[in-house]
Amino acid sequence: MYPLLRIDLAKLRHNAQALLQLASPLGISIWGVTKVLCGAPAVGKAMLAAGITTLADSRLENLQQLPAAEKVLLRLPDPSQADFVVHYAGWSLNSELTTLKALSRAAVAAGKQHKVLLMVDLGDLREGLWPDEVIPLARQVVDLPGIHVGGLGANLTCYGGVLPGPDNLGILVELAHELRRLGLAECEVVSGGNSSTLELLQQGKIPKGINNLRLGESIILGRETTARRALPGLYTDVAILQAAVIEVKEKPSLPIGTIGQDAFGNTPMFIDSGTQRRVILAVGRQDVNPEGLVPLEPGVAVLGASSDHLLLDTTVYPEPVNVGQVFSFGLDYGALLAASTSPYVTKQFLRPN
Ligand SMILES: *Cc1c(COP(=O)(O)O)cnc(C)c1O
Repeated sequence: MYPLLRIDLAKLRHNAQALLQLASPLGISIWGVTKVLCGAPAVGKAMLAAGITTLADSRLENLQQLPAAEKVLLRLPDPSQADFVVHYAGWSLNSELTTLKALSRAAVAAGKQHKVLLMVDLGDLREGLWPDEVIPLARQVVDLPGIHVGGLGANLTCYGGVLPGPDNLGILVELAHELRRLGLAECEVVSGGNSSTLELLQQGKIPKGINNLRLGESIILGRETTARRALPGLYTDVAILQAAVIEVKEKPSLPIGTIGQDAFGNTPMFIDSGTQRRVILAVGRQDVNPEGLVPLEPGVAVLGASSDHLLLDTTVYPEPVNVGQVFSFGLDYGALLAASTSPYVTKQFLRPN
């Protein structure tokens, strides 16, 4: 059934293996992040088969369905769900004492030890404690029963687009040293970010003392995320989207009549490029964001989309186009997130042999 999101698990496993080979010699462990594929069990399995031992996701529903492994909740927990957090995740990322107390109560009630990374905001302004708040919070947390402070983490290049570098990651390493020196925590995990830290790693500039990365996009899309550069030796086509042609017509490139608003309240602008061979695919904004689609066939351009229709210009596509024919697209992170989340998109996992 189209639209179809095809995930090549052999390629995904290869990417995970390649990243492990890059990170392991530097003493850096990898937590495999599955959230962009909604924690699909097959994806978790492929990461585990590659040699990753810890799976991380931002949502409890996803952690619940992932195969048995050490699991990490990436989004700061909602304290009202503390019982589920300690049940489904061995680790969570935290910055609030209120939540840590709730996790402590839940862990004690469940007879468990719950491990936490204290998140430090190094300037990207998403989650995390300000650096000077870390030691004071750690002092309050170390004695909470059922809670083990396993280390520190930082998240960059997410909200503010701030790049990881020796300076900001150096602060994380220093704070970990300080926690050890004060006897507050061993900090067995010092987690220096997500796929955006790979550029630094490749340049050999990752500060000593960072011993973990949480990687999603690089495993699944084969790219680092500071400039979306393809990583050498990795597949960038693990995920492709396919959709079927439902109309092929020669039409002008300029709409006819007075232009008001489109289906989404925008006033569109058009350039006259003559008559086009226009194609409609049965896929739309309810399935994917069209701006993030990259046609895999030559001579195909995405013109736009409404909720259920994707318009292509195939004027220079070298072959005839027929109704029922299928076109394929690569996806950026946003498009993949939308497609994997849309219930209208069929997911197909190509198993490794
Ligand atoms: C999503 C997420 C990651 C993974 O990011 P990628 O860019 O996909 O590698 C890592 N850490 C946290 C806290 C996240 O929310």
